[in-house]
Amino acid sequence: MSNYIPSVGMEVHAELATRSKMFCRCPVGFGGEPNTRVCPVCLGLPGTLPVPNKEAIEMVLKTALALNCKIARRSIFHRKNYFYPDLPKGYQTSQYEETNPIGYHGYLDIPTVNGGTKRIHIKRVHLEEDTGKLIHLPTGESGVDYNRAGTPLMEIVTEFPPDIQNPDEAKEYLTQLRQILIYLGVCDGRMEEGSLRCEPNISVRLEGSEKYGTKTELKNLNSFRAVQLGVAFEVRRQIATLEHGEKVIQETRGWNENKEASFTQRIKEEENDYRYFPCPDLAPLVFTDEQIDLAKASLPELPAARFARYTKELGLSEYDAQVLTNDDAWSKFFDASLALGGDPKAVCNWLTQELAQRLNREGQTITNCMVTPVMLVSLIGLVEKGAVNGKQAKEIFVEMFNTGASPEEVVKSKGMTQITDPSAIQPVIAEIFAENEPILERYRAGQQNVKGFLIGLVMKKTGGQANPKLVQEIVQKELDQL
Ligand SMILES: [Zn+2]
Repeated sequence: MSNYIPSVGMEVHAELATRSKMFCRCPVGFGGEPNTRVCPVCLGLPGTLPVPNKEAIEMVLKTALALNCKIARRSIFHRKNYFYPDLPKGYQTSQYEETNPIGYHGYLDIPTVNGGTKRIHIKRVHLEEDTGKLIHLPTGESGVDYNRAGTPLMEIVTEFPPDIQNPDEAKEYLTQLRQILIYLGVCDGRMEEGSLRCEPNISVRLEGSEKYGTKTELKNLNSFRAVQLGVAFEVRRQIATLEHGEKVIQETRGWNENKEASFTQRIKEEENDYRYFPCPDLAPLVFTDEQIDLAKASLPELPAARFARYTKELGLSEYDAQVLTNDDAWSKFFDASLALGGDPKAVCNWLTQELAQRLNREGQTITNCMVTPVMLVSLIGLVEKGAVNGKQAKEIFVEMFNTGASPEEVVKSKGMTQITDPSAIQPVIAEIFAENEPILERYRAGQQNVKGFLIGLVMKKTGGQANPKLVQEIVQKELDQL
């Protein structure tokens, strides 16, 4: 079989997390009774005038900056004309042309498997509006729900020729992009609800060939897994088609989650002519240097920068840094604990081990559980001071998690005190030493590892209440004097 190189272009639509729609005051939401969030503007009734949503424009500006885009100083809205029942106006307000979208010619660096990064060039980040939804009723009839019509929609398109060359990179790009959108607070990223939609276009070409193959577009991908599987399937299908001496047809294909296969939805015989033209109802958007600088300054720390800070400055492992940065709420909890003086590694361990397990088991999230950064940091403090040992700390943690009590309260109520007084530990050690002369003999003979055994005996004798660090120190001292 010849060697083929896949190329994947990514078109991502993100519904913006604004309160109201793009050109009217109707609220934005998911689900609900059909046609209850509509008005003459988003229904496209004659005589209405759209008023652009400032919040949406700022969100797109921020996203474009986070994706290293150039910002258009003057950006206009176009009408994209086509007829479909879910589009009440007969056109979609969108942004056309190469350098007209709010953001253009940017990039996103994604991590690669060998520990490096790969730059994925971005063609444009533009603002448009969502359509309504067709609903097929059990009676066999169809209805249209316009609740979604006019919801601010951001489209992010990668550059041609595509940088993405395999399903893993497609998934990684989407993962990183989604994280950025969530960090910026511009989209909730819920693929299963359709607020983040990804439509990759895929082609393959023979290695060494300059000419890109015919591409197909994939729809109905509502999870990361579907994106990865869908792209992989399409690459395999196209290669098999070519190897059979057949041609790949330019078409839109739908992904069937259950069958894990794509099927023909619509064959594109020619490019649609949308007759784009500038929207006469909307004034151009103008961005001044000052506005752009202000937006830049308001950007939060982005996932890649946070990951670098956790690994390089704080010395966390890549795995731990990944777990913490994957979810904004987790890294906020982590950073808040550090701000209270918590040791990065200790905080990280508690979060990724004990807390993660408990949350998982109880079906809770880090934002709605009873453990707070203050509680966690004071628990870590008790361990560091030697007031409680590791085993006790775990018990306290469980109590904290279940009841919301502070670690100090748990220590008091459970009578969990540690023996931290050397004069109380000394006699126990003396006793152990007296009972284990043969062991001491082995130490004298050079067997250093019997030390751990002796410490274990002391801990056992004190019912686990002795401070292990102190026991270790005194045992060592005694051994040194043998
Ligand atoms: Zn409306």
